[in-house]
Amino acid sequence: MSEPKRIVIVGGGLAGAGAAASLRGRGYQGEVLVLGTDPHRPYELPPLSKGLLLGNVDEPDWVRGENFYAENDIDLRAGLSATRIELGGRLVTDENGERHRYDRLLLATGSRPRTLPVPGGELPSLHTLRSLDDSLALRSAFERAGKVVIVGAGWIGTEAAAAARAHGAEVTVVEQDTLPLRAALGALQALVEGRAEVEAETLKHGDLSAIG
Ligand SMILES: Cc1cc2nc3c(=O)[nH]c(=O)nc-3n(C[C@H](O)[C@H](O)[C@H](O)COP(=O)(O)OP(=O)(O)OC[C@H]3O[C@@H](n4cnc5c(N)ncnc54)[C@H](O)[C@@H]3O)c2cc1C
Repeated sequence: MSEPKRIVIVGGGLAGAGAAASLRGRGYQGEVLVLGTDPHRPYELPPLSKGLLLGNVDEPDWVRGENFYAENDIDLRAGLSATRIELGGRLVTDENGERHRYDRLLLATGSRPRTLPVPGGELPSLHTLRSLDDSLALRSAFERAGKVVIVGAGWIGTEAAAAARAHGAEVTVVEQDTLPLRAALGALQALVEGRAEVEAETLKHGDLSAIG
């Protein structure tokens, strides 16, 4: 089978950037285009709820250096969303209306935070945490906040609670399970039992019904 001439990757996160780098690493010589909604070049997400949110660092861990994409002939378009895919015509259209032909298409669009289906759940003053800009905005809000409510006591919720506490805020975590981190840790959860009251001042069990 002949090598595809043009590969388009939708999504400029770890998976999209990793795929582009792997193609070049394996000697692929065709065109590689990466479309990514995020305005920054690809970065790792874990520091966003840890060092960056705590204020220990101001930059994320970049997946690759600034010049890597140009040096490896990877056409990275950061800050540009794909808005339409035509499978029959093998075309991706971006938000500016430009159409990109492909021989192979990789969708690496990741996931996004769920908003809450409760009254007030769409208020613009609420924060979610997924991107570098989300993390910087949240850090700045923690620095100014007297009281913080965090919905969800999974990994990201508990890490955010610890960061808010480190910034001096009074923190309440609302969690529908009776224990934090149970879905993530299962039986190991017993190891962290008792820590919740240390990291967050209050852990409230229950479903959130409205935000005002
Ligand atoms: C705050 C946080 C902390 C985390 N900490 C850890 C950790 O400690 N350990 C761990 O193992 N995992 C952690 N994770 C999870 C892990 O980092 C993710 O699993 C990983 O980043 C997934 O990479 P991805 O490329 O598949 O998706 P994503 O990182 O979601 O990237 C997908 C990209 O596609 C873009 N995109 C979506 N739609 C379009 C479109 N139409 N056009 C163009 N671009 C589009 C998005 O903007 C996004 O940039 C964390 C995640 C978060 C959010």
